[in-house]
Amino acid sequence: MTSQEIRQQFLDFFKSKEHLIVPSAPIVLKDDPTLMFSNSGMTQFKDYFLGYKEPKSPRIADTQKCLRVSGKHNDLDDVGRDTYHHTMFEMLGNWSFGDYFKKEAIDWAWELLTEVYGIPKENLYVTIFEGDASENLDRDTEAYDIWKSHIDESRIINGNKKDNFWEMGASGPCGPCSEIHVDLRSAEEKAKISGLELVNNDHPQVVEIWNLVFMQYNRKADGSLENLPAKHIDTGMGFERLCMALQHKESNYDTDVFTPLIAKVEELSGKKYTGILTDEKDIAIRVVVDHIRAVSFAIADGQLPSNNGAGYVIRRILRRGISYAYRFLGMKEAFLYQLVDVLKNQMGATFPEIVKQETLVTEVIKEEEISFLRTIENGLVRVQKLIEQTTAKGEKVLPSEEVFELYDTYGFPDDLTRIIAEEKGLTIDEAGFEAELQKQKQRSKKDSAAKVYDWVVLEEKPETFVGYDKTENEVVVTRYRKIENKDGEFYQIVLDNTPFYPEGGGQVGDKGSLENAVENIEVLETKKENNLIISLIKELPKDISAVFYAKVNSSDRRNSQGNHSGTHLLHEALRDVLGTHVEQKGSYVGPDYLRFDFSHFSKMNEEELALVEEKVNAKIKENIVLQEFRNIPIQEALDKGAMALFGEKYGDNVRMIQFGSSKELCGGTHVKSTGEIGHFKLVSEASAAAGIRRIEAISGDKAQEYYQSLENQISELSQLLKSKDVLKSVEKLMEENHLLKVELDAFKKEKAKGEISDWKNAYEQKGDKQLLVKKTSLDAASVKDIVFELKREIPNSVTIILSDADGKPMITVGVSADLEATYQAGAVVKDLAKEIQGGGGGNPGFATAGGKNLDGLENAYQKALGL
Ligand code: ATP
Ligand code: MG
Repeated sequence: MTSQEIRQQFLDFFKSKEHLIVPSAPIVLKDDPTLMFSNSGMTQFKDYFLGYKEPKSPRIADTQKCLRVSGKHNDLDDVGRDTYHHTMFEMLGNWSFGDYFKKEAIDWAWELLTEVYGIPKENLYVTIFEGDASENLDRDTEAYDIWKSHIDESRIINGNKKDNFWEMGASGPCGPCSEIHVDLRSAEEKAKISGLELVNNDHPQVVEIWNLVFMQYNRKADGSLENLPAKHIDTGMGFERLCMALQHKESNYDTDVFTPLIAKVEELSGKKYTGILTDEKDIAIRVVVDHIRAVSFAIADGQLPSNNGAGYVIRRILRRGISYAYRFLGMKEAFLYQLVDVLKNQMGATFPEIVKQETLVTEVIKEEEISFLRTIENGLVRVQKLIEQTTAKGEKVLPSEEVFELYDTYGFPDDLTRIIAEEKGLTIDEAGFEAELQKQKQRSKKDSAAKVYDWVVLEEKPETFVGYDKTENEVVVTRYRKIENKDGEFYQIVLDNTPFYPEGGGQVGDKGSLENAVENIEVLETKKENNLIISLIKELPKDISAVFYAKVNSSDRRNSQGNHSGTHLLHEALRDVLGTHVEQKGSYVGPDYLRFDFSHFSKMNEEELALVEEKVNAKIKENIVLQEFRNIPIQEALDKGAMALFGEKYGDNVRMIQFGSSKELCGGTHVKSTGEIGHFKLVSEASAAAGIRRIEAISGDKAQEYYQSLENQISELSQLLKSKDVLKSVEKLMEENHLLKVELDAFKKEKAKGEISDWKNAYEQKGDKQLLVKKTSLDAASVKDIVFELKREIPNSVTIILSDADGKPMITVGVSADLEATYQAGAVVKDLAKEIQGGGGGNPGFATAGGKNLDGLENAYQKALGL
């Protein structure tokens, strides 16, 4: 059976059990402050479990792209070293939201595995939760009894809290779980040692394939458990592991999910994959074919590699792949990007995003590879230097600070440093390096650490966003909770009819106030979390149940709105001018400015920029009226020609924003007609990443301020120049300046000539040489000319000039050719430069040094006289 068929059978099976089949959510999460990536099938349904949103159907099934490389689930270190953990993998899952429970979940899992897929029953083991006294939780006898009807009791294993109690996070829905393990060993192996002993023991052929979670509790922030009002089912089965079982392989990498990628790596590297667990070349190949999937899908979903947050995680995965290939496959040139094509052919049918985004994904990976390989080459030079310095001191251990700096600041992999050091018979101060690493982790933990208390629910009332129509509204607080972070203590509140727009779709969240006759409370920011709109305040109102008048900061909102609508017009203008390959890749829309990232492969020229700006302003002048389709079926919007973004999670119904021919799916707030934008001004255009350009622009008040400040500058200039025609006056000044410069140069040359003849006669015989030490205020270029002339004309001479032109100390040393072997100008200048806290260099015949300490020139002078 091919992997495609295996996946399809899973979906068909649950469809036949009345499940709604939904597409995978993007792998990168945009609006969840607690998580960067989907790390299990249930991530996209969190708000259903939390009860914030009604599920689309009480029964759902899908395959979900997951990434386990950060936070609570992090398998990165195992990837490549074992045969069944990946960074990105597909999790097949079925869900019941308050519908069926343990019986159906277990019966169907068993039916699918043994009857549909035909896995021999004697190869399966299951685990159940054994209970936990400290939590006051009993053994899951309910699950045990159901399993008993399918499988011999000797194959049902008790599991502890670590393996058999599933929790979403530190708080939230949780419950006991039951795992299904498969034993793929040969009959001979099985005879030697029973599979029972190998379950949950890291054996590569006795692995967990499916986890059935029975959500029946809610973990509160104080750690206690309460019963959930409705019980849910959440299951997750590793697709690649299932393929291994059904295709009778010993490793996920031997299934057709990976073999085409491996074949391509073999072709490109000339190395053969032999599937050996501990072979470094084989590990590297597994790492490469695994990581390319994670990185490609993250980029296709809109997450570009970058220096922080989720982008940094992606960059690190890619760099791990490059570095393994560099070390163990001898790949010193970019090559990973060539795997994207293979991946597309393999996965494109199920995940069309990889087909549509192929060019971008390929380009971005290639650029990243080239730049990281350059980092490696530069790092190699630094490591070499460090080794030389350490050896010169007669030491054998590379200092941890420098090794850490290489790793942290220059992005040079520490294991490369280690290997190179070992080749030279040196080691790394491992304990010190580990300590530096921990220190850094602590620092970043401290920055992000937040303590979140339980919600206090005042009123069970659904929350409605009224901010598309109003910026002021009567509200009550329906729930609140305390949070603590590095800035102190705050409260998060949820309102019944909130006018505050929560940060999202690039647009910043609203600020404002809650007012009534007694109080006036500042709203600091508004965000969305699991579909709840949450506003932040510093202190709770005295009377939390009072009615308030909520007011959005209206000038900020107005300017953000102008920038948001401006962004849509910009998007359209860019597609008009540059072509329809232009797609939005990210944006920031605030009251102050807008930033728009888009796919395009070359720098925009002046004409293109001018044309784009002109087109946007033409639409503003047309004063096109907003047509808002607040809630239409997604297909209808797409049929009307609306632009959708990759990596964005859209519901069945969407909001479409139309200004004439510009149509976008968008949840942001907008002007009522384009005239309100006032004026649109491009401020900059630059590269944001490989294949991505970034435009920054301003509109409305800010554009007006911009022109106003230009006008002010011109009027100040004209006062300064005492002229109405600034341009002409400046031209005249430049002309005068030029003439003065020419005169000055001639004058300087004259003066220098005079100096030369004076200086020629001032040499003194000192030992084997003629020495001249002089102070001067001549500029560096003149000094250089003179010294060159002197060292040429005066044999056996050392010339030392100390200058203070423009208040900067400088030392220049010239040595005549016949003395270069005895007196190295570079060495002389280096020694003298210490007096002026400076450094410099040159060659044996001529050297200069600048410095910081002008007062030190006198000491340098005295020192030079003693040469
Ligand atoms: P393991 O103990 O093997 O790491 P897990 O307990 O972390 O698994 P769950 O969180 O229960 O796994 O995830 C459900 C299923 O997803 C697992 O049964 C397994 O088949 C699969 N799975 C989990 N992590 C990975 C991974 N890193 N790569 C591939 N498949 C995975
Ligand atoms: Mg795990």
